[in-house]
Amino acid sequence: MYSYIYNMQLTPKIINVETSIFTVMSALASKHKAINLSQGFPNFESDQKLIDAVSKAMNSGYNQYAPMAGNLELRQAIAKKFEILYNTSYHPETEITVTAGATQAIFTIISTFIKTGDEVILFKPAYDCYEPAIKLNGGKPVAIALKAPNYKIDWKLVEEAINHNTKMIIINTPHNPSGTVMSKPDLLKLQDLTNGTDIIVLSDEVYEHIIFDGEQHQSACRFPQLKERSFITASFGKTFHNTGWKTGYCCAPKTLMEVYRNVHQFNVFSVHHPTQKGLADYIVEPHHYLDLSNFYQEKRDTFLNLIKDSRFKFKPSKGTYFQVLDFSEITSEKDTDFAKRLTIEKRIASIPLSVFNDNQRDDSVLRFCFAKTEGTLKAAAEILNNI
Ligand code: PMP
Ligand code: GLN
Repeated sequence: MYSYIYNMQLTPKIINVETSIFTVMSALASKHKAINLSQGFPNFESDQKLIDAVSKAMNSGYNQYAPMAGNLELRQAIAKKFEILYNTSYHPETEITVTAGATQAIFTIISTFIKTGDEVILFKPAYDCYEPAIKLNGGKPVAIALKAPNYKIDWKLVEEAINHNTKMIIINTPHNPSGTVMSKPDLLKLQDLTNGTDIIVLSDEVYEHIIFDGEQHQSACRFPQLKERSFITASFGKTFHNTGWKTGYCCAPKTLMEVYRNVHQFNVFSVHHPTQKGLADYIVEPHHYLDLSNFYQEKRDTFLNLIKDSRFKFKPSKGTYFQVLDFSEITSEKDTDFAKRLTIEKRIASIPLSVFNDNQRDDSVLRFCFAKTEGTLKAAAEILNNI
C-alpha cells in the first residue's frame, strides 16, 4: 500500500507556490527572537467586553450551526453599520454573508465567478491571496503596476487592459502593503470604466476603519452604479484586534449574492456561531469601530516620530496598520535579503515588498506593522535608528 502511495504522480492545480511570506517571516522572527513587525497582527488584546460577549454566547446556547449566511442579528448590525457610515443599504437577509475572514470571502467570490480564460485585473503590489485564487480557477491575472512611492492607479493602463475577457477587477483600499488610499476620483473613474460591462468589482476593504489624517474611506458602495457590480469584503479581525478569530463578511446586491451563496454553502457552510453572536452584541455601539482610526493614527505617529532621524525614508501611511520604509540610502541589497538579515542580525522582522510583486520589482522598501504596544514600537525604533 505504501509503495503505491510513494509512486503516486501528483498533478496539483497550482505549482511553484512558495510558502506565504507571512508564515516565513513570522517563523524567522520567532526563531531569532526578533521583534515581529512582519505579519500584520496586533500584539495587544481585543476589548474584554467583546471577549465576554463571545463567552456569554457560548454559555447561552449559541453552539450549533449558524444559519448558512450568518447569524441574522450580526447581519442586521452590519447592515446598520453601512447605513451609519456610507448612507447606503444592504439587505441583511439577501445581501450580506458572514465569512471565515476576508480570505475565505475573496476565495469564494473568485471561485464563484472566474473560470478558464477569464481575465482578472489586479494592482501590484497586491495582497498575496488574490492571484492564487484566480489561477486555481483557471483565470488569468492581469497585473497593473502601482509605482512607488505614491502607488497611484494609472487609469489609462486599466482602460487599455479591459477587454471582452475581463471578468473582474480587484481593488484594495486602504491598501496593503503600501498604506495608500484610493480617492473619490479613483472610484468615479472605476465606475465610469465598468459602466455598461459585465465586470464584477471585488473591493477588499478590510482596513476601512483604519484611515488617517481626516480622509474618508471611499467604499465602493458609496457609488451607486459601482455598488451594483461590487462585492465588498471586510474583516472583523482587523477591526477588533482578533485576527485569530478569522471572522469577516461580504456584501453585494442580491443577484450577485445569490450565486455567491451557492458556492459559499459548500465551501464553509457557516462560520463560528458564538463569535458571530458576540460580535452582533458588540458592534451595535458604533464607537467600537469609529474610534479605530484615531487609535492607529496615534500609533503611526508614535512610530514615525521615533524613527524620524533614522536613515530610512518614508511617507506617512494614509491607512492600514502598515508603514513602508525606503532603505535605499542604507544598502543596495535585495529587499528579501535585507529583510532576512535584519531579522537574524538586528532582531527586527518586516516584510519585503517585492513578494507582493512576483519577487520581481524591488523598490528597496520594507513593510512594518505598527499594530503594537508603545513598548514594542520604542524597542523597534531603537533598532531601526541604529541601522
Ligand atoms: N485582504 C487584505 C488586504 C489583508 O491585509 C488581509 C489580511 N488580514 C486579508 C484580506 C485577509 O483578512 P482575514 O484575516 O480576515 O482573512
Ligand atoms: N493580512 C496579514 C498581513 O498582511 C497577514 C495574514 C496572513 O498571515 N495570511 O500581514
